[in-house]
Amino acid sequence: MNLHEYQGKSILEKYGVAIQRGMVAENTKAATEVARKLQEDTGTGWFVVKAQIHAGGRGKGVVTETGSHGVVLAKSLEEVPEKAAAILGGHLVTKQTNTQGKKVNKVLIAEDVYYPGASEPSEFYMSVLLDRARGRNIIMYSTEGGMNIEEVAEATPHLIFKEEIDPSQGLLGFQCRRIAFNLGLSGKAFKEMTRFVYALYSAYEGCDASMFEINPVLKTSDDRIIAVDSKVTLDDNALFRHKNYAAMRDITEEDPMDVEAGQAGLNYVNLDGNVGCMVNGAGLAMATMDIIKLSGGNPANFLDVGGTADAERVEKAFRIILRDENVEAILVNIFGGIVRCDRVAQGVVDAYKNIGNIPVPVIVRLQGTNAEEAKQLIDESGLEVHSAIVLQEAADQVAAVLQA
Ligand code: GDP
Ligand code: MN
Repeated sequence: MNLHEYQGKSILEKYGVAIQRGMVAENTKAATEVARKLQEDTGTGWFVVKAQIHAGGRGKGVVTETGSHGVVLAKSLEEVPEKAAAILGGHLVTKQTNTQGKKVNKVLIAEDVYYPGASEPSEFYMSVLLDRARGRNIIMYSTEGGMNIEEVAEATPHLIFKEEIDPSQGLLGFQCRRIAFNLGLSGKAFKEMTRFVYALYSAYEGCDASMFEINPVLKTSDDRIIAVDSKVTLDDNALFRHKNYAAMRDITEEDPMDVEAGQAGLNYVNLDGNVGCMVNGAGLAMATMDIIKLSGGNPANFLDVGGTADAERVEKAFRIILRDENVEAILVNIFGGIVRCDRVAQGVVDAYKNIGNIPVPVIVRLQGTNAEEAKQLIDESGLEVHSAIVLQEAADQVAAVLQA
């Protein structure tokens, strides 16, 4: 599960990580009030207005309706409402979104931490994540923070450092100091950085995150170390023990089809191929995607209907698959172990009738308990459904309908 910047920062703050302070607003009026409050609390006269969407690259991104960037400076309280209005409700297109962009429902109004007129502040990059190959958490960091870390990684990978954490020891003091040293810091900034790294790592561990990315980490002209941005991914499998974080989920940021499938208890991932598939069991679903590839198609989705695969679920699954306009054929591949194939076949027939008109060929392969009865049920239904028992047969049928 991904979090918004403002939500990530609220977690960081709880763990003692110094952040660029700010408050979130959903309309221009609230944005002004929030800025006024921020001025009282921090004394700041300049503000940054930051679009809250689940995608990075907002600073360089553009709001299609107004041409505004996704992160803009307001040099007085009076400027806040117009700057916020140019972002709120618009669609922000960044390197990490599609061409439609993402609708901005909220902006974060934050204090300007770059201090106009002061000497150049430094922007660092820092992230904590799981290195799956090493089986350990690592801290990645670089002096080259700001907005182009992908290019840094590409052109000058030696400028990106890694610190690996031994799970039996945890993050050790000398590691924090090594990071501060490699970032070229000394004196007060050095001390602040070691504290920053330690607190950041505790936040990462404490909320069972799979990634914390802070870009930029800012060294202010008065040597404070501050998280200016935050990109946080929490481990879905651990959300049960973090009810308060689970409540931060923003489903407006997620693919509506994924959300609907989740609510129906279906394990669905939208892909960009042309053959929809409906399968019981994740392993069989993977194998089915391979079969589709081998028969000359491309899977349009991964869909595990689960062990029960009753008529209601089958119908729901059909409806979700059909919403994808790229689908040219659907392959249903069910292994009847606990579930009886004739039940599933009945489900397919019922779903077919309820939906009324399925505009693409459907190939159903049922194997296992009562497979023969199932095939008969489908063949006699009078519907335009191709049935198969052997997987190769089904694959050949997929190839045939794609060529037709
Ligand atoms: P991203 O583009 O989505 O990664 O959004 P960020 O939160 O990283 O902001 C983009 C850029 O805006 C940063 O790299 C900073 O250079 C700039 N920025 C962020 N906060 C401030 C601020 O308080 N003052 C000024 N002048 N610039 C800021
Ligand atoms: Mn950033």
